[in-house]
Amino acid sequence: MSASAHRRIVGKLVIASHNPGKLREMRELLAGYGVAAVSVGELGLPEPEETGTSFRENAVIKAVSAAQASGLPAFADDSGLVVDALGGEPGIHSARWAGPDRDFARAILAVERRLAECGADSPEQRRAHFVSALCVAWPDGHLEEFEGRVDGQMVFPPRGAQGFGYDPVFLPDGFERTFGEMSSEEKHGLPPIGRGLSHRARAFVKLAEACLERR
Ligand code: IMP
Repeated sequence: MSASAHRRIVGKLVIASHNPGKLREMRELLAGYGVAAVSVGELGLPEPEETGTSFRENAVIKAVSAAQASGLPAFADDSGLVVDALGGEPGIHSARWAGPDRDFARAILAVERRLAECGADSPEQRRAHFVSALCVAWPDGHLEEFEGRVDGQMVFPPRGAQGFGYDPVFLPDGFERTFGEMSSEEKHGLPPIGRGLSHRARAFVKLAEACLERR
C-alpha cells in the first residue's frame, strides 16, 4: 500500500481498551501527536466479546465496536504472549489465563507450571514473543492495521514491578532486565533513542509513520 493510501488520524480518537496497563501505554504512545484521546471507559461504552481467532481479528472487533458506538475513529490493541514450548499459548487467551479477577500472579504461575510439566527448563526451551495487533477503525468502515512483535525468553521467578501482565517474566532479546524492570520509556524504546522495543511500540511506530503527524 502506498503511503498516500493511508488515512490520517486527526482530532479526537477513542482508545478501545478497558485494560489500565494497556490504556496507559497507548496514551503515552499517542502523546505528542496532537490527538485528543478519550477511552471507551470514559465514554461508558461496553467491552465487546473477543470472538476472533487471531490478534488481528480481535483488534478489529474492538476498534469497530468502539467506532460504531461513539461515531469517532477508535484505536484498539489486541496483544498477548506466545510461548513456543506451549504450542503458542497463552496467545490470544493471555488475558483469560489471569481469570475473571485479572490475577497475573496466577497467570504467571500457570505458565511456569506448564513449562515445568513439559520439561522446558533451558533458556532455549523457554523462547517466547509478545505480539501486538493495532487497528484504527473509522465510523465509515475504513480500517488501518499494523502488527509488532518482540522476541525473548521466559524467566522465573518474576522480576520487577513496573509494566503490567506478563512483563515481570519476559526478558527481551539483547537485554538483561525484564519488561517488569524497565520504565515505560525503556519498554517503548521509541525514536530517537530506539526504533521501538515492545511489540506495542513496534506496531505503533508503523502506525505513526502511516497515519499520524507530530505536533
Ligand atoms: P487483550 O489484548 O486485552 O485480550 O489482552 C492482552 C493480554 O496480554 C493482557 O491482559 C496481558 O496479559 C498480555 N499482554 C499484552 N501486552 C502485554 C505487555 O506489554 N506486557 C505484559 N503483558 C501483556
